[in-house]
Amino acid sequence: MSSARRRSKSSSPELPSYEEAAALVAAYAARLTRLRPGPRSAGPRGSSPRSSGPAGPCIERVPLDRALGRVLAEPLRADADQPPFPRSTRDGFACRAAEASSHRPLAVVGSTRAGQTPSGSLPRGAVWEIMTGAPVPAGADAVVMLEHVEEFDAHFEESGGPSAHAVRLLPPRTIRKGENIVARGAQARKGEKLLSAGSLIGSAQIALAGSCGCAMLNVFPKPRVAILSTGDELVAIRSSPGASQIRNSSSAMLAAMVRAAGGDPWVLPIARDTAKSLDAALTRAASADLLLITGGVSAGKFDLVEPALIRAGARFHFTGVRIQPGKPLVFGEMPSRSINAGSKLRRTKCCCFGLPGNPVSSAVTFMLFAAPVIAALAGQQDRGPHFALARLSEDVKTKTGLTRFLPAACTFSGAVPEVALVPWQGSGDLAAMARANCFLVVPEDSDRLRAGSTVRILLP
Ligand code: AMP
Ligand code: MG
Repeated sequence: MSSARRRSKSSSPELPSYEEAAALVAAYAARLTRLRPGPRSAGPRGSSPRSSGPAGPCIERVPLDRALGRVLAEPLRADADQPPFPRSTRDGFACRAAEASSHRPLAVVGSTRAGQTPSGSLPRGAVWEIMTGAPVPAGADAVVMLEHVEEFDAHFEESGGPSAHAVRLLPPRTIRKGENIVARGAQARKGEKLLSAGSLIGSAQIALAGSCGCAMLNVFPKPRVAILSTGDELVAIRSSPGASQIRNSSSAMLAAMVRAAGGDPWVLPIARDTAKSLDAALTRAASADLLLITGGVSAGKFDLVEPALIRAGARFHFTGVRIQPGKPLVFGEMPSRSINAGSKLRRTKCCCFGLPGNPVSSAVTFMLFAAPVIAALAGQQDRGPHFALARLSEDVKTKTGLTRFLPAACTFSGAVPEVALVPWQGSGDLAAMARANCFLVVPEDSDRLRAGSTVRILLP
């Protein structure tokens, strides 16, 4: 970590590259995840509602319908085999594959709907009508689809009685053992770990937890993320700006981004470009788990954030990155509140990012660097940022020396994602950013990307 010293904002070669800064932040985030105290409330049977117990201090217990976007604090385990019985995946006839594949007529000797239990097992030379989701009767080893058979009435010599309903698999089609049946426990065995602690809970995870009978989930608490916008020109969104003022749009944007990254935003009043205002705001903000400051980190006369952070005791991991937009980004830690750790009082640290004030710069640096740290504080394993590949639809010319993240629009409707730049007037252009859905990544040694080439995009 560098000492608390003001840097020259203009000396790009001394600054870390994007890759170096990202690696530093990733290592920092990984350390945070390892330091996070483990769950204390997990009952002997994991998240099952039957294993409830009061949630420990580092665990929150939330109903399943409120769990979207939260992070599991303990593994989710299967409470039973999944599926709990051999399940038909088709409407049709449960059969023995070898018999059906001989194309001889087979008597229909039973019927089972989803929710029913077969009344017996499948005799030889017969089939059993079955619906999707129903248990397959013992003796059957495949299910022929309704669409693949002909149905008729037939006399069976063995029975000697009246004609019976029968089916025949239509030639030349044959069927293999196991076809259209999911064997009991094929998806998961009872007790098997289905999700690890640290998994982000989306709709699929909610469905899985629901299938295991978890009406409540133990999740990590959200980190509290203070958002402090600085600038004499800023007014609140509800205010009418004076001739040389602008609305504080970035606090609202960052609050939304913090929520999406798994944090709990705490928007502070705008700080003015004075040492006094900044010192007071930092004292207040230090109780957060993470602090985002916007503006005031460039090299201008009224860019006073870095000295204020130094006065607050901050130490910096880096104070600038070779990227555009976002070059003046500051990443460090400042002393925070004291917490009770057993019998001792432990001083904690508040991780802080000084994001450049232009909204596109704030957004890009948040996505690249702050979001992964927030996700780590939230206990998440997959922390991002997330990149994808796309085909560039036009030539792009830039200068070398900085990794660029340029607002771009990517269409995902074709066979391959196709990306084009969104025209923009620089990093204050909110309208351009709102028309974009990703950022085109231009490596720092490239002065040109050619149309048709495969390029990286940064996804929100
Ligand atoms: P700064 O980084 O403080 O030099 O600010 C760079 C540019 O971003 C200036 O044009 C500011 O007016 C603008 N800006 C700074 N903070 C915000 C904010 N919270 N919302 C919108 N624009 C901002
Ligand atoms: Mg400013």
